[in-house]
Amino acid sequence: MSTIRLRNVTKRFGSLVAVNRADLDVEAGEVLCLLGPSGCGKTTTLRMIAGLEDATEGDILIAEQRVNHLRPSQRDIAMVFQFYALYPVLTVAENLAYPLHYERIPKAEMEARVSRVAALLELEAVLHRTPGQLAEGEKQRAAVGRAIIRDPSCFLFDEPLSRLDIEQRQVMRGQIKELLAGLSKATVIVTHDQLEALTMADRIAVMRDGIIEQVATPHQIFTEPANLFVAGFIGTPRMNLVEATLTEGGESYLRFELGGQQIRLPIARPGLAGGSSVTLGVRPRACEFVSESGIDTISGEVDLVEPMGAETLVHLLHGDQDLRVVVDRSTRIAVGERAHLRFEPGSVHLFDESGGRVEPAP
Ligand code: ATP
Repeated sequence: MSTIRLRNVTKRFGSLVAVNRADLDVEAGEVLCLLGPSGCGKTTTLRMIAGLEDATEGDILIAEQRVNHLRPSQRDIAMVFQFYALYPVLTVAENLAYPLHYERIPKAEMEARVSRVAALLELEAVLHRTPGQLAEGEKQRAAVGRAIIRDPSCFLFDEPLSRLDIEQRQVMRGQIKELLAGLSKATVIVTHDQLEALTMADRIAVMRDGIIEQVATPHQIFTEPANLFVAGFIGTPRMNLVEATLTEGGESYLRFELGGQQIRLPIARPGLAGGSSVTLGVRPRACEFVSESGIDTISGEVDLVEPMGAETLVHLLHGDQDLRVVVDRSTRIAVGERAHLRFEPGSVHLFDESGGRVEPAP
């Protein structure tokens, strides 16, 4: 069974803890994206799974076997690197066939596999060319083809699309996702691009400073971020995170003080006591401007208006807080105007003093 499991895995480089007690399960047929800012430990995690780095502590299991002591070549994995690592003097056909030489596959079978993978990745027309004669997208597809030709236990991708332009990325995201869906392998993809993770992953592991902060489906990561870091990291434009004090709690509403203003929201959080310091999280598309101020609005001055094509991003200055609001491009709003903002109650996230998510009433 193609699975990858990490059990309490730590990697130290001297005094630096690059990966801190990571636990992870990737099931057969599942695509898991490791996502996080630069330096958070994504690549180190991937390299430990591949056997290119030793884990300082913990267990790494591939296909339910502990592999800590095995060399990369013994782990039955296929890896696609950011720098495709194609052999420059070999043709695409020879590059694709290369991994099969180690497996002593008969020539006819080898040719059949090359043809199949070439057809799958639309490489038939360039099979005779060397990597230097390929466009960037074709190199990428050749690297993927070389990984999938061998039927390994699992796949590891390290920033596979980072060298492609935006349009190629969009196409390749879809192609890789479709390809992996048919292969029933456990796959780990490292990326710092959240769009890549949100579109390609079955589940995302968000990392920060060596720690896995949340593992969940793209939808859950977006709609139920486990903490302030995940909330702020996922989503464009970024979620508004507003510090507030809960002044009064009720079964059907909560009242907050934020930036010198009071706001009453029709939401319930049984876990919070009056007087608590909290952070309200509201995505820019879950805010709307209303014409009158009210008990559920906050007011500020429009600071910046940024056209984004079909939509416009408006920055509202509330105290020293920059609140971002996405409005339809037809909305008339000007810098310097006083405006009133309403949060869509069902889309308000609440985080406690330690930054953890406070769940709504069941
Ligand atoms: P990026 O997206 O920039 O590649 P990353 O999330 O993949 O970042 P890693 O490359 O895993 O992060 O690095 C995690 C931490 O470990 C960083 O602080 C990095 O400087 C450090 N690190 C990685 N490899 C080594 C090494 N061989 N020796 C010392 N420190 C290292």
